Amino acid sequence: MSLATIYRQLENLVEEGDVDLIISPTGEKLFRHCGNDGRHHHHIICKICGASRAIEFEEVEEMVETAAKRYKYSEVSHSFEIFGICERCSRKSKG
Ligand SMILES: [Zn+2]
Ligand SMILES: [Zn+2]
Ligand SMILES: [Zn+2]
Repeated sequence: MSLATIYRQLENLVEEGDVDLIISPTGEKLFRHCGNDGRHHHHIICKICGASRAIEFEEVEEMVETAAKRYKYSEVSHSFEIFGICERCSRKSKG
């Protein structure tokens, strides 16, 4: 199977909500399955090992709605990911 085929299949899964699509800080497409039941959520991702955790912040959702109302935009969508260095990796770097 070619890489392009794998990517296409993953993109289908993203549409069905089985896999998360995460864009790395370098703009690379990363795929993660975090098993969050297709519920809307965001991620905090380690820049070193790539470990990602699902996070939910009502504030983010409210902010999006407020912005949509304020600027009169409809059918808004958003993506919000946090990148950082996880506890394990930061411990490692400190030795
Ligand atoms: Zn997820
Ligand atoms: Zn890490
Ligand atoms: Zn959200």
